[in-house]
Amino acid sequence: MTTDKPFFRFNPNAFEKGRAFEQSSDQCDVCKKPAVWRHTLGVYAVLEPEICARCIFDGTVAAFLENDSFAFHDIEVDEIDPELYTELLQRTPGIATFNPFTWPVLDGMPLAFIGYGDDLDVMSDLRAQKEIAKVFGELGDKVLLGAPCPYALVFREIDGERYIVEVNYD
Ligand SMILES: [Zn+2]
Repeated sequence: MTTDKPFFRFNPNAFEKGRAFEQSSDQCDVCKKPAVWRHTLGVYAVLEPEICARCIFDGTVAAFLENDSFAFHDIEVDEIDPELYTELLQRTPGIATFNPFTWPVLDGMPLAFIGYGDDLDVMSDLRAQKEIAKVFGELGDKVLLGAPCPYALVFREIDGERYIVEVNYD
């Protein structure tokens, strides 16, 4: 029995408002049941079906699309275990960004996307703030600690404390 609202470890906040899902009674094209949580972001494939959170978690979308190389993300990833790669690209809901980016990996493990640099949670997270200030400072773009920075994509280790910030200008 799959929950309507499964936990996605690489995108743990995917159900927050304005992220990857909205509540919907529309039918999911994959499982033919009411979506409950409907994925609102794109699928990088020929078809653009309605997809529910359950089907993303189950990994049934690739078979439905008859496409082993579709993805919910327009990203680059360093070489990782093929199972992790499939989980990240095909079983993790998308994140809205202006441009393609590199999904960060440490010690062979993708990090979890925790939010954008203008999310309140991120703005109140001092470690995240320091990393944002450092990364943008290296680009010559001064960001004050605690200031909203919508161009920052903030990632944190699933089982660790290290952060990586990707810059995504519009
Ligand atoms: Zn479904």
